[in-house]
Amino acid sequence: MEKIIREGLEAMGIPATPEQVLAMAAYGELLLRANETTNLTAIRDPAAAARLHFLDSAALLTVADFSGDKSVADVGSGAGFPGVPLRILRPRIRLTCLDSVGKKMDFVRESCAALGMEDVRCLWGRAEEMAELRESFDIVTSRAVAELHLLAELCLPLAKVGGLFLAMKNPDCDEETVRGAFAINALGGRVREVRRYEIAGADVTHAVVVIEKIKPTPPQYPRRWAQIKKRPLLG
Ligand code: SAM
Repeated sequence: MEKIIREGLEAMGIPATPEQVLAMAAYGELLLRANETTNLTAIRDPAAAARLHFLDSAALLTVADFSGDKSVADVGSGAGFPGVPLRILRPRIRLTCLDSVGKKMDFVRESCAALGMEDVRCLWGRAEEMAELRESFDIVTSRAVAELHLLAELCLPLAKVGGLFLAMKNPDCDEETVRGAFAINALGGRVREVRRYEIAGADVTHAVVVIEKIKPTPPQYPRRWAQIKKRPLLG
């Protein structure tokens, strides 16, 4: 994993120290080992994990500015993606991973601590029920959690006005982005751009919908998940 991550980051123009590459490979090994007994990821091959977990997550650094001590929330983080690779590459960020599955957060918490990243906050719960986190993050990230018109209601309330929500998607996300526009606007956001990028060595293109938080989310949002699904914000 180490070689693929090192060479991939280089090819994608993302600087990393040897220690950061080693930390990502070590986290990947912990993940694949834990995955033998606990279902944490569908990706079991080390080379695929290096590319589709670590390089894909790191690609966000080419899309947004993670410098300084920005607060970052990774919604539906699962086994820690994209949050943990971002924290390894930008150690000053204040990262909160949150997921509705407790065993995934246990894995992230324990693995981060084993690698000296005790500061990573791991919260078990549903994003839409975390009222205490409202409008408190500079950047909210999310990968493979829900369709954009639903996902926006989980993520945009957590972003500060002036902050960003980065939704990682498949490259054919134009229709999904158009469908999500009403919800994004109703929740205080505005689509800035859809950025596509290639993952080195993987022969795949992925996309990030970059959404700016331009005004506060109205107090009636987020609703409970059942309501979000039953009455999606589709205009
Ligand atoms: N982001 C990780 C990745 O890309 O590897 C995990 C993706 S996994 C397909 C989706 C994750 O979102 C699951 O771990 C699930 O528990 C979590 N999730 C779904 N809805 C959620 C919600 N409302 N709040 C928090 N987590 C949620």
